[in-house]
Amino acid sequence: MACVEFRNVRKEFTDEKKGTFTAVADSNLIIQDKEFLVFVGPSGCGKTTSLRMIAGLERQTSGDILIGDRIVNHLHPKDRDIAMVFQDYALYPHMTIRENLSFGLRNLKKPKDYIEKKVKEAAVILGLEDMLNRKPRELSGGQRQRVAVGRAIVRDPQVFLFDEPLSNLDAKLRVQMRVELSELHKRLEATIVYVTHDQVEAMTLGERIVVMNQGMIQQIATPKELYANPQNMFVAGFIGSPAMNFIDAVVEGNKVIVEGTFLKVPNHVAAVLQGYEHRPIVVGIRPEHIYGDDYAPSIDREHTLQARIQVVEHLGSENLVYFRMGSRRITAKVHPETKAYAGLEKTFVLDMSKVHYFDPLTEQRIL
Ligand code: ATP
Repeated sequence: MACVEFRNVRKEFTDEKKGTFTAVADSNLIIQDKEFLVFVGPSGCGKTTSLRMIAGLERQTSGDILIGDRIVNHLHPKDRDIAMVFQDYALYPHMTIRENLSFGLRNLKKPKDYIEKKVKEAAVILGLEDMLNRKPRELSGGQRQRVAVGRAIVRDPQVFLFDEPLSNLDAKLRVQMRVELSELHKRLEATIVYVTHDQVEAMTLGERIVVMNQGMIQQIATPKELYANPQNMFVAGFIGSPAMNFIDAVVEGNKVIVEGTFLKVPNHVAAVLQGYEHRPIVVGIRPEHIYGDDYAPSIDREHTLQARIQVVEHLGSENLVYFRMGSRRITAKVHPETKAYAGLEKTFVLDMSKVHYFDPLTEQRIL
């Protein structure tokens, strides 16, 4: 079993300028055996530090880390039965691909036959058989990345740790490698912990995702759950592209008022919002749930907003339409046939069944 567990894990750094600050606040987390779990969050949120603590490259200030059933707090990285793939691949330039792949096993003094078998297996899995005698500089970025993964595979670790492995690749190759990594996970049946700042990468790769901000775990959930039920405004704004729109509103009975427009809310929503009567709330709606009135699906068309379009971006399969509500800029992702150009006064239809409501003070989701 290769679960990974954080029990009240905390990491503080002491820095001359900042003094002591918390990079990872007390965190609790269980990564299941064979799970593909992704840490995602903005730069500096503590995701790499979390990964490095699992690897043993960084020692937590307090709390316990378990791999399998054992507490590994005091174990050296090489004794943790993990393999890490870094952003810069860290290949040895003077060695051939075969030597790069076998390096770790040679260091462990494994028998020659065993090493050859392992290298061959990894090369087949990753499509590197024809490149074993080349040097890293003779490989493309994507191929080098595969070698870095291959070096981890040959070691048969309990847990694979990936630190932004695709960030040096161009956009097209990244998409291709994402698919390859998903396939690899199925094939290896291994536990994978993966760090990225890219929410699309997180959503496409992760079976579950840990969203972090400022050293704190904001939510742990499946991609579907994060998208449909974000716990707070940070998660709601971070997951989904373009980002969720936040609109300031005030609650009045069974309606919310947005810039003088009354939007009727379903009865079950009105019941929950009772506690916010006459108080401000934040309405969250994703760009894909705002439609032009000439191209709206058969949803309840009662809920509309008027606005002057500022900018339209044509993406081919859809258009992004920008307009303002008060001080907030709103994005609608509309069907490409929707009539839209800068300066047009347009009626937009909101799918109120998909709207979220947030407390502006705590930023937690009310509903
Ligand atoms: P990025 O995506 O930029 O890599 P991250 O989410 O992975 O960001 P971490 O690298 O985990 O963030 O860093 C979390 C915080 O801890 C940051 O503020 C960083 O500056 C700080 N930090 C990381 N390592 C050290 C260190 N060795 N000494 C002091 N501060 C550190």
